[in-house]
Amino acid sequence: MEKQKDLWDLSYLYKSFEDEAFQGDMESLKQDAAAIKALLEAADGDETAKLEKLMTAREALDAKVDRLSNYISCTLAVDATNQAAGLADDQLMAAFTALTPLYSGIARFVAGMKDLEGAIASSKELQKVAFALREMKENAAHLIPENLEPWILEMKLSGGNAFSQLRDKLDSTLLVDYREEKLPLAAVRGKAYNPDPAVRKDAYDAEIASYAKIELPMSYCLNSIKMEARTLAKAKGFSSVLEMTLHDSRMDQETLDALWTAVKEYLPDFRRYLKAKGKMLGHAEGLPFWDLFAPVGQASKVYTIEEARETLLREMGKFTPRMAEFMDNAFAQRWIDIYPRPGKTGGAFCSPVHFADRSLVMTNFQGSFSDVSTLAHELGHAWHNRCLAGLPYALIDTPMPLAETASIFNETMLSYQVLQSCGKEERLTLLESGLMEATQTVMDIYSRFLFEQEVVDTRADHAMTVEELKDAMLRAQEASYGDGLQKDARHPYMWACKSHYYSSGYNFYNFPYAFGLLFGKGVFAQYLEKGEAFVEDYCRLLRLCGSASVADVAASVGIDVRKPDFWRSSLEVIKKDIDEFCALGGALSQE
Ligand SMILES: [Zn+2]
Repeated sequence: MEKQKDLWDLSYLYKSFEDEAFQGDMESLKQDAAAIKALLEAADGDETAKLEKLMTAREALDAKVDRLSNYISCTLAVDATNQAAGLADDQLMAAFTALTPLYSGIARFVAGMKDLEGAIASSKELQKVAFALREMKENAAHLIPENLEPWILEMKLSGGNAFSQLRDKLDSTLLVDYREEKLPLAAVRGKAYNPDPAVRKDAYDAEIASYAKIELPMSYCLNSIKMEARTLAKAKGFSSVLEMTLHDSRMDQETLDALWTAVKEYLPDFRRYLKAKGKMLGHAEGLPFWDLFAPVGQASKVYTIEEARETLLREMGKFTPRMAEFMDNAFAQRWIDIYPRPGKTGGAFCSPVHFADRSLVMTNFQGSFSDVSTLAHELGHAWHNRCLAGLPYALIDTPMPLAETASIFNETMLSYQVLQSCGKEERLTLLESGLMEATQTVMDIYSRFLFEQEVVDTRADHAMTVEELKDAMLRAQEASYGDGLQKDARHPYMWACKSHYYSSGYNFYNFPYAFGLLFGKGVFAQYLEKGEAFVEDYCRLLRLCGSASVADVAASVGIDVRKPDFWRSSLEVIKKDIDEFCALGGALSQE
């Protein structure tokens, strides 16, 4: 039986789903929407006054939705079958669909104003959200025409959204014939981390064979979602799907090019790591795909949650005592739902509760060092939220590439500190798990980017067949992994495996990961250089994430993301780990 202190506290949101405050907030969403609609339709008088009223109403609505959606989604996250929460979730979704055109309506009003700059200059309230207002005006050129918007939103339900749902159904209902059992795909893929090489190999063979059962519908899902993305990009006045994605990410092509230029230069180092890991596992010619996630070295220490808390406070406190205090408080105020239990979803996340200046963190802690690292990661997100405290909702949306800055920073900080004081065997294990993750986030992500670009481009001409998709995936893996992976032991079905290709709202859901990892490491390198003095800069950078372009946020601490040099400096940190891993591995195998 879990103790109360191990469960997160949601009671400051609402007491229960029967709580009058909850019922009242749910019911008032319709009136709020009607009030904003009436404001939008009111005969034009003073534009500045009208915009002030609209932004005030939007802010209040955002806070209410924040409270409601956190209560509902966090309840469901730890109690999937909670009926009251499930019903409320459907109702909130319906409310969102009704609210979306109102947000576009406000953007259209801003874009059509005679003198937006004059309004901003004359109003204290509008000055506070000036970045968001200017962005609305700039983005107006990319709004779907007003009379078409509701129809396009509705057709997405039977188009991209439906294909996305089908994809999830195919994935979650597929049963894989593994040895004498029929297992869900996720369970079979999980065996890639098993210490027994025969288990890993059999699981890989079973997984690859199983895709034949779903490859055809999967290929239709992928082709259709990418076709819809092409159509939407055109309708919104973008020259390509990638341009639309970069625009939504507040990022420019120059930055993406600089990132890939540097990544390509370091691919040989990642291959060197894979070959060294292959040698340790008895493969002479690079790693087979089924051993990418194989554990290396001795299993490290098992932590209790108290030990994890102490470790975090001690090691993260070396960055600044404020971080230790912040984390201690997160435990004491029960922001964290700690252990796995039936009905609780897997993985980990951090959800901001902006109006309350808090966060809610969900983990499935089982005591590995990776679980401690996950806590550091999620509490990094929470620290980021703390840095955004007090800002209007219009200024807290962090674009995808910057969203992992504080979490990666924390993970890097923790492993840096722990590596300072551990023995040779444990050092090898820790280095390896960091490199395994970095290889996925840089090398595999690069192959995913190449693959997705090819699908999006080819779709202009025709829908790709299963054979074409497999071939494109293998070529992307060749370009990225090269001789780091054995030629005849790769994964032609990664396109059917990764859900990221099937998000109907977000394309190229890959480069933000590489950006995030390398940016977080680059920011950490700045800290190593500047020490304590960097803490204030760091917090300012995080606070700026929702109110500047990616390049401007980086420039605030002197980083130029448009130049490959910055990315090279982050990759150099990983290269040092690769050098050490290869040396340690060689030394240990001779002992
Ligand atoms: Zn994260």
